[in-house]
Amino acid sequence: MLFYLVRTPKGELVLSPFPELDKPYFEGGSFKEDGKNIEPYTVLTPGVPLAYLETVAVPSESILRALAREDVLKSFPWHWGDLEYLKDYLPGVVVGPESREPNVEIVKSLRGRKLTEDELRMLATSYGLKPEEVWQQAHLLVRAGLGEWVPAVRRERKGWRCQRCGESELEEWPSIYGAAFTCPSCRSLGTSSTLKVIYRDLRTPARENFGLRSLNKTSDLVLTPAQEKAAGQVLEFVQSTLESEALLWAACGAGKTEVCFPAAAWALGQGKSVLFAAPRQDVIHDVAPRLQQAFPDLSIPVLSGASAAKFSAGDLVLATTHQVLRFYQAFDLIFLDELDAFPYRDSRMLQWGVTQALRPGGKILFLSATPDPATLKRIRKEGKIIRLPARHHRRPLPVPVFKKMPDWSRVKDSGSLLSKMQPGFGSMLAALREHGPVIFFVPKISSVNVWTEILKSIFPGWSIAGSYSRDPERLDKLVALRRGDFDLFVATSILERGVTIEGAQVAVMAADHPVFDERSLVQMAGRAGRTRANPSGGVIFFAARETAAIRTAVRWINEQNELARTAGLLD
Ligand SMILES: [Zn+2]
Repeated sequence: MLFYLVRTPKGELVLSPFPELDKPYFEGGSFKEDGKNIEPYTVLTPGVPLAYLETVAVPSESILRALAREDVLKSFPWHWGDLEYLKDYLPGVVVGPESREPNVEIVKSLRGRKLTEDELRMLATSYGLKPEEVWQQAHLLVRAGLGEWVPAVRRERKGWRCQRCGESELEEWPSIYGAAFTCPSCRSLGTSSTLKVIYRDLRTPARENFGLRSLNKTSDLVLTPAQEKAAGQVLEFVQSTLESEALLWAACGAGKTEVCFPAAAWALGQGKSVLFAAPRQDVIHDVAPRLQQAFPDLSIPVLSGASAAKFSAGDLVLATTHQVLRFYQAFDLIFLDELDAFPYRDSRMLQWGVTQALRPGGKILFLSATPDPATLKRIRKEGKIIRLPARHHRRPLPVPVFKKMPDWSRVKDSGSLLSKMQPGFGSMLAALREHGPVIFFVPKISSVNVWTEILKSIFPGWSIAGSYSRDPERLDKLVALRRGDFDLFVATSILERGVTIEGAQVAVMAADHPVFDERSLVQMAGRAGRTRANPSGGVIFFAARETAAIRTAVRWINEQNELARTAGLLD
C-alpha cells in the first residue's frame, strides 16, 4: 500500500492511502468557500511507502507547489456509496457524500488485530473481496480513531525496528525509495519491510456489553482442594490492582489450566477480553475442548499454526504464541501456558508479541511446571507466585533416584558402556517394568536406534520401539504407546511434555548430558504417576555425575511435595 502527502483546503498536510475516501474528513464534507467550489484536496506526492513519508521533513511551500499533481486522483477507479451505515459502527465518522457502507463482518474481524497489508489481503480473499475493499474498511476505522497505520518496519530514535516482531537487526537493501529494510526474524509469517504497512486496531476483541450473563455454567467445574486454593489466588491476582504479572507454578500433571477458569469467567463477566495462549499446537488442541466445556455459551476460536494468519473472532481467544503476533493491545487478561517451552522460550519475537497483545494496564498469568530462572527472578521481585503443588489423586510426585553409570562421553561405544553397566542395569529396568511401560529417555536422536537395539538384545521377549521428532512413523507409534503396546519405549525430548501414558515409568539415560537442564529433567520425571489408576511410579536418572541440573530437579520435586504435604493436600 502506498501513501500520499495531501494538502487539505485548510492548508493542513495529511498522509493518506485513500485521499478520495478521506475527502469528507478534510473539510467536514463541505467544499465551498464564499459560494465558490474549491479543490477538496491536493495530492502533493506520488504514492510512497509510509515508512518513507513518515520520516521526511515537511517540505517548504515552494516545493509543495512543485510537487502538486492535482489530477492524479481522477484516475482512481473506485467510489464509495452511502456512509450513513457507518454511524452505528464508527462513532465520530463524518458522513460524506462519496463513501460506502462498512462491511460489518470485516469491521468485526479486525477487532484488536495487528495485520500486515498482506494479511489483510488474505482476509479479503477469505471473504471473496478485493484487497482494496478490506484496506479501505481498515482505513475507515483509522479515520474514526479506532485503528492506525504503521510502517511494518519503522524508524525509531535508535534505528529501524520491525513493528510486527520487535527485531532491530534488519537486512538492508537498495530500493527506489532509498535504503530499505526487511526483517529476517518474522519472515516465516510473510514479509515485513519498510515497503509494507501494518494495520493496528485499537478496539478490544471482547464482545460488546458482554456483561455477566451466561457464565454461571463454570459452577459445574469440579476442582480438587489443591486446585480450588490456587484458583482462589489466581482470582485474587486478576481482581487486584497491585501486580501486573504472576506465575502459577504447578506440579507436573496437577491440572493448572482449569485453575484459571474461575478467574477467566470473572474477567469476561466484567467485559474484559481474555486470551489463552501456549507455544505448542498440541497444548492448544488439548485445552480447546476443556475450555469449551467450561464455557459452553461462548464462541471460542482456536487460532493455531505457526505461519498462516487465522482470522476467526470470538468471545474468548485461544491461540498459539505465533498467532498472538497478529493482535495489538487487545487483551486485558492473558493466560500463557508453558512459557518455558520451545519455541517461546528462546524467541524474542514471540515474547515481544505477547507483550504487544496485552492492553496497557492488563494482566498476564504465566503457567509452568518448570519456570525458567529469568522469569522466576523477575516475578519474585515484581509479581506474585502461586503454587499448585499436588496432583488430583493426592499422591506425591515420584522423586527421581540417581544411579551412577560410567561416563558416557569417555566410552567408545554403547556396547562397551553397557557391559560396564550390567547386570544391575537390566534388573533395574525390569523392576520398573513390573509397574508399567518404561519410557527410556535419551539425549540425542542418534542414540534412539542404538539404544532400541541394545535394549532389544537385553530383553528379547519385550516389545520395544523408539521415536524422535522427525520419525515418519512417530504418530502411529505414539498411538500404540498410549494403547499400552510397548514394554519399553526409547524417546528423545518429544515425550518430555504434555503426554500422559497410563502407568508410565521413567528412565533417563545420561541425565548429566548438557541437553537435559533441570526443567527437562522435571518434565521427564513428571510423566510418571499421573493418573488415578496409577498414582505412583518409578523414575531413575542414570548419570556419571550428579550435575547441578539433576540436584535442582530433585530439589524442585521435593519442594512441591513438601508444600503439598504442609498444605494438607496429600494423603
Ligand atoms: Zn519482524
